[in-house]
Amino acid sequence: MMTDFRVGFGYDSHRFAPDRPLVIGGIVIPYELGLAAHSDGDVLIHAVCDALLGAAGMRDIGTYFPDNDPTWKNVDSTKLLAKVVELVEGKGWKVNNLDCTLVLEKPKMKPHVEQIINRLAELLHVETDRVAVKAKTNEKMGFTGAGEGIAATAAVSLAK
Ligand code: MG
Repeated sequence: MMTDFRVGFGYDSHRFAPDRPLVIGGIVIPYELGLAAHSDGDVLIHAVCDALLGAAGMRDIGTYFPDNDPTWKNVDSTKLLAKVVELVEGKGWKVNNLDCTLVLEKPKMKPHVEQIINRLAELLHVETDRVAVKAKTNEKMGFTGAGEGIAATAAVSLAK
């Protein structure tokens, strides 16, 4: 029996950079550019972390994993998400669903979406039909449209 319900929203963006792997949703995507960041630059995972923490009233990702802390240099962001899920579950919350959108011109995400959904579902301890990942272009407008980087949004609901 559900006694409480929350909604959280997260946003993140990272700039493309050479000589970096492109990691989105915990999956390495073959592409000539990666994302600049202190961590592995996983823009989608960072948005998901902020949505979870926001829903639970637990501040944001930078509070737990400051980007001036060498511990998190080039860290695999799925490790950060696993820690965030542990914190949120520790407050008695269970993820109800996650819905995210990536905004980018390139590369094409369609071939990778199913793998990303499976990975996110595994990390959030939910069935895959509770996770949605969409990707769209920004119709050549703004920084995502110019191919300067990738933006991600995530909405999550929690129940207890
Ligand atoms: Mg980030």
